[in-house]
Amino acid sequence: MGRWNQVDRGPVDRRTGTGSRLFAIYALVSLIPVAVLGGVVNQLVRHEIDDRALSEAVARAQTISDASIEPAIGSGALDHGISSAQRRRLIASTASLHGDASVLRLRLRSATGTILFDASHPHDAPKVAVDDEVKQAAAGVPVRALTRMNNDEVDLANRSGADVAAVETYVAVHPPGSSRVVAVLETYLPYQPFADTAAASERRLTEALVGGLGILWMILALVSWSVTRKLRATAEESAWLAHSDQLTGLPNRHAFSEMIEAWADADHPILVGVVDIARFREVNETIGHDNGDRFLCDVARRLSAGVDPVGMVARVGGDQFAVLWPDFGAGGESRMLAAIQSATAEQVSVAGIRVNLEVTVGVASSTQITGDAADLLRCADLATHAAKEARLIVVGYTPELEAFDPDRLELAGELGEAIAAGQLKLHYQPKLNLITGHVRSVEALVRWEHPERGLLPPADFVPLAETTSLIRPLTAWVVEEAARQIVSWRHDHPALSVSINFSARNLDDNRLAEHLLQVLAAARVPASRLEVEITETAAIADPTRAKDLLGHLRQAGVRISLDDFGQGSTSLVSLTDLPVDELKIDRSFVLGLEKSDAKRAVAEFVIALGHRLGMLVVAEGIETENAATLLTSMGCDEGQGYLFCHPMPADELERWLVDHQHMLSEVASRSDATADAPVVVEPALGSLEVERPTDPLA
Ligand code: C2E
Ligand code: MG
Ligand code: MG
Repeated sequence: MGRWNQVDRGPVDRRTGTGSRLFAIYALVSLIPVAVLGGVVNQLVRHEIDDRALSEAVARAQTISDASIEPAIGSGALDHGISSAQRRRLIASTASLHGDASVLRLRLRSATGTILFDASHPHDAPKVAVDDEVKQAAAGVPVRALTRMNNDEVDLANRSGADVAAVETYVAVHPPGSSRVVAVLETYLPYQPFADTAAASERRLTEALVGGLGILWMILALVSWSVTRKLRATAEESAWLAHSDQLTGLPNRHAFSEMIEAWADADHPILVGVVDIARFREVNETIGHDNGDRFLCDVARRLSAGVDPVGMVARVGGDQFAVLWPDFGAGGESRMLAAIQSATAEQVSVAGIRVNLEVTVGVASSTQITGDAADLLRCADLATHAAKEARLIVVGYTPELEAFDPDRLELAGELGEAIAAGQLKLHYQPKLNLITGHVRSVEALVRWEHPERGLLPPADFVPLAETTSLIRPLTAWVVEEAARQIVSWRHDHPALSVSINFSARNLDDNRLAEHLLQVLAAARVPASRLEVEITETAAIADPTRAKDLLGHLRQAGVRISLDDFGQGSTSLVSLTDLPVDELKIDRSFVLGLEKSDAKRAVAEFVIALGHRLGMLVVAEGIETENAATLLTSMGCDEGQGYLFCHPMPADELERWLVDHQHMLSEVASRSDATADAPVVVEPALGSLEVERPTDPLA
């Protein structure tokens, strides 16, 4: 089942690829929110760090105020500036702070903002504008901000970033043990120490954050991987369910159509056989539904094994299976049918009950049908339906089945039995030499003596036989009957040949030539006494097989006649290629020949062509003396038609031949008597009264 796997697994494989791609996309996309989250947290952490720096700066300023400023200014009011004693103490207490650069600026301001003391200029405080921050701090609300120390006036405070130089603070100064605000301490503390401490904790935090987020992402990815796997498994499971028959596990109708499409896309011709189990409902009711299911599973197994490794089997209906058969070449159909038949030949044993397995098969080939997979399957279905109706085992699809008539189906159903029951008959119609009237050969035309419907012409049942496998037994019967007839004429008509008709479907039968020659040999009939007529259309439909079969027969001595010539569109090249002894001008050119220049032109052309290729030319459908005269004057060799006689049963033909012989002898003796008279070139038969037995079919 190699190819079945290929075709079936295609979609599943595609899904597997899609799964991995989906996961990769998910993994990438999920990184984005993780990265954004990381960025946001990082910003929050930075903000927190700055905030901490500011709080620590305020605490430090408060400590400086408590430890160094407040003791230095004492309890005195500072309304009129600081005293020199206070200034001395302040210089002493702030010297170390300013000296080690742990404080960048230290100013003591009055509550109104005037600088009372500046550690950088202890004796000469600069005059600067009053800052709002001072008033705010004096009101008891400490002020803190990041600063770049670029300009006193427009210090772009409260902005973090690489260029931040310091943290500026304003805190209220109280005399020791009092809550009265006497001044405001303005400090600028270097930002870097805070930033370093912050950077260290930021690094630790970032590491923790990246690690945490990484783990989070991996957990998410793992979760999604396992979810994707489960989803994929579920998708595969549902794809399998959508493509499979639950009972037998075989592909279902939908999957089968996809398989057909796959082969069609590969431009490979295929055969489709729809196998219907006969009377499955009865089986099901008799052995019970569970056993019925087991029965179907067993049939599924057998069919799969039977067509393996060439074909593929699907269950396309309750009791219907379909076989896709890509081995299309010569004999492909026979091999498919043989595989199906041998797989279904034996009884099925279910729960100890042995059940007969009977199947009906409808076959359609992709070369016959122009539509899509559904059409091919429908045509095979139609053929199966026709086979069931006709109670036949195998029916091949033909366009005629589209307009299937139940009445015709019933007839097809009876035909098989009719052959065995001897209801077929051969009627014979002579081919006469148009100059001498001599009968060299008679054409055997089959009829069916139907017990209820009366005598049926070949048009009523030969096409039915062609669409079913019945054309083989029918042709076999004709061959045997013709051989038997030749034998029975061996004394009275030892040189009379019989021609039989082959249909296009006979070309499929590899054993036909062999069978025919065996029949002749068994009856001791020389091959030269039998002729085979095949229509031009059938021969050119499959020229290779026609050449094989006809060549084989011709080599053995059987004469070959190309029937209904002119109806088809044989290229002259293929005509020279076919092993043919005789051309029969199609009767459509013979009927009304007298009145149509075009028909005369065609008839003349075919006669000239046949002669040029060394063939005998026979005109069929001669109904009038005028037509006979015209054809004779054109050089046509033989003629056949109602003018001379209708096809008739063997005994009638024997009587006709005797009468005809008498008549010819009479003409001969008359022409002997007038031997000296001028020769009138006209057909011997044209001026004769010909006895015309009536053909009931005419
Ligand atoms: P065909 O081989 O071309 O046979 C000639 C048909 O023309 C016969 O029809 C015959 O009765 C009819 N015919 C003969 N003379 C005249 C005439 O003057 N005017 C007209 N209008 N028709 C004439 P039939 O017997 O009904 O057979 C029809 C076709 O059935 C045959 O055409 C042949 O293709 C097919 N057929 C007959 N017997 C067999 C057979 O045993 N096997 C197969 N495969 N096909 C057969
Ligand atoms: Mg014929
Ligand atoms: Mg014909």
